[in-house]
Amino acid sequence: MKQIPSIAKHGPQPQKLAALKQAHREWNESPDILTRLTRRLSTTLSLELQLGILAEEIAAVVPFDALHYRHHIGGTEFVYASGMGGPHSCDYRLNLEGEFFGTLSLKRRQRFAESELEGIEMLLSAAICPIRNACKFIAIEQAALTDSLTGVPNKRAMDQALQRACLLSDRHGDQYSLILCDLDHFKSVNDSHGHVVGDHLLKLAARELEKAVRNSDSVYRFGGEEFAVLLPHTGEQEARDVADRIRCNIEDIVVNCGDTDVSVTASCGVAMRLVDETADQWVARADEALYRAKDHGRNCTRVFASIG
Ligand code: GH3
Ligand code: MG
Ligand code: MG
Repeated sequence: MKQIPSIAKHGPQPQKLAALKQAHREWNESPDILTRLTRRLSTTLSLELQLGILAEEIAAVVPFDALHYRHHIGGTEFVYASGMGGPHSCDYRLNLEGEFFGTLSLKRRQRFAESELEGIEMLLSAAICPIRNACKFIAIEQAALTDSLTGVPNKRAMDQALQRACLLSDRHGDQYSLILCDLDHFKSVNDSHGHVVGDHLLKLAARELEKAVRNSDSVYRFGGEEFAVLLPHTGEQEARDVADRIRCNIEDIVVNCGDTDVSVTASCGVAMRLVDETADQWVARADEALYRAKDHGRNCTRVFASIG
């Protein structure tokens, strides 16, 4: 392991400290464009802010009308666009150590000169490490909010979404509904056919849930064989219809295991958020409705009615 020099052994280092002070001043005040670019990029891990900084620094040397960046990160498409395009463009595939970190295009009305392209490439090569770090940061953030088996958002993501929904619903008075969907007798599916079949069914169930809802609704896996759907701008009757559609879709799943076909059903509990209700209270009412559905014999939907 590398030794850190001890004060007792070496004493103060006035010359080195003076040189450091000088270097620090130069680093902060340097008119050198590459120093300024890397210093600015190092202040943030936000890919959006980094691209804004990069656009400003490129524009200081090579004027352009539009900058577009696109990269597929952890299952979603990250797109950044600033300005309006022109007929001439230069396009770059950003790579570092064999890994791809997105495509970046600059557009403008006039053709780019060779010397300008060289300048852009120098700036991009100084920016690629911070951009790589920002891409990795997004991927890690997404992984922390995603269920690794089914690929749908997890309980942490659901908690965040419910908090946001409560705020928006209080502010704008919109209706939000929540469906809790629990697979029936799933323990016995595992016991009879094994966990591999159980896992496969869970993945198929997640796909069916996604198919049954609108783009504006979101599906979460918030427990072992428990899913939730958050439905903005949706009252309880409409949410009940969605829950029934989910149940029908899940009922239709068939997994062939040699000599037997395995299928599964689901029970759903629905609750529309009440004014001033906390996320926990809202989930507890949906859970109560789910309990009633189980109690009623499973493979059905129950609504915790907001009135009456
Ligand atoms: P109920 O109809 O009352 O919901 O009965 P259930 O058997 O579905 O409910 P219970 O809570 O008794 O058991 C849930 C089962 O879900 C237990 C566990 O084997 C299974 N399970 C939970 N997570 C996973 C998973 O990631 N993969 C698999 N294969 N099974 C899981
Ligand atoms: Mg269950
Ligand atoms: Mg359960």
